[in-house]
Amino acid sequence: MIERRKTRQIHVGDVAIGGGAPIAVQSMTNTDTADVEATVSQILRLEKAGCEIIRVAVPDMDAAGAVRAIRDRISIPLIADIHFDSRLAVAAVENGAQAIRINPGNLGGPEMLARVVAAVKLHNAPIRVGVNSGSIEKDLLAEFGYPTPERPDALIESALRNVRLLEQQGFEDMKISIKSSDTLTTISGYRRLSEEIDYPLHIGVTEAGGLIAGTVKSSVALGILLFDGIGDTFRISLTRDPEEEVRVGYELLRSLRIRQRGPEMISCPTCGRTKIDLFPLAEEVERYLQTMQSTIKVAVMGCVVNGPGEAREADIGIAGGVGVGIIFKKGEIWKKLPEDQLLPVFLEELKKMEREQR
Ligand code: SF4
Repeated sequence: MIERRKTRQIHVGDVAIGGGAPIAVQSMTNTDTADVEATVSQILRLEKAGCEIIRVAVPDMDAAGAVRAIRDRISIPLIADIHFDSRLAVAAVENGAQAIRINPGNLGGPEMLARVVAAVKLHNAPIRVGVNSGSIEKDLLAEFGYPTPERPDALIESALRNVRLLEQQGFEDMKISIKSSDTLTTISGYRRLSEEIDYPLHIGVTEAGGLIAGTVKSSVALGILLFDGIGDTFRISLTRDPEEEVRVGYELLRSLRIRQRGPEMISCPTCGRTKIDLFPLAEEVERYLQTMQSTIKVAVMGCVVNGPGEAREADIGIAGGVGVGIIFKKGEIWKKLPEDQLLPVFLEELKKMEREQR
């Protein structure tokens, strides 16, 4: 149903981006990159959650130096995020960063950029050209005004200018992002950009907000873009633990039927017929599901009368009654149990189904 726009393909480490490759889910650490222990342990948790590419901030030489030790202990490709300082970009790549995110125009001029390009070419590392509303050049702002949904031109022109800077250096191994914190500007900007270039696009809403606001904003913007076939990789940016970014990312892909990872949970909103304290039960089941890999559909429902029927499409479900509850499979009652046994038996059955699906 979704026809993806054709883009070139690049590789960040062993992850293909663009050219029909699966849309890669990224995140960014929020630890001090120079603190190798803290950064590695966060990345390992992110890997478990399904993160496929990780970006780390490299604000100084300590952070650039830490890249080597971090990379040695993680399995997913690492992108170094650099602002202004070409020496940091070169050092990060020499230390094993598999890609860098820069704004080529703010590295201090063509000579500095040439050094960075020489380093990334040597190490086979692509560049993410990362433009955002706050980094647009003054002359473009004067000409086009601050980007708006009706007129995102300054963002587009800034991205194209930065792309050209790399092309002039004979470098085309890149992907592009143009970030705005405004949902509609993000949508109109990427739509325009995807008509101008065929480099792969990293999409996202920057400074999207906390869990609820950020999830809604990102899902609206990225959902519409992905539905249009635009976007080859993304990060959901949230003021939250980055693991949540990855979870939201997969839910977004699942809801568009683009990619599926882990179980899907459906749960009823509860109503006057609810016979069990459903919220903590649903939370406990959800926590457990985050540890699972299989793609089964799991339901958590508030009453035994309507629950199994309303969640007929679920492979397995749980529904609560007064003092007793049921576990059902594909809408049919499988077991009736006293309330205190309901959750343990349910989780045990989930474990068994996970083993069988492997
Ligand atoms: S499953 Fe039962 S409790 Fe939940 S919304 Fe439906 S009728 Fe209400």
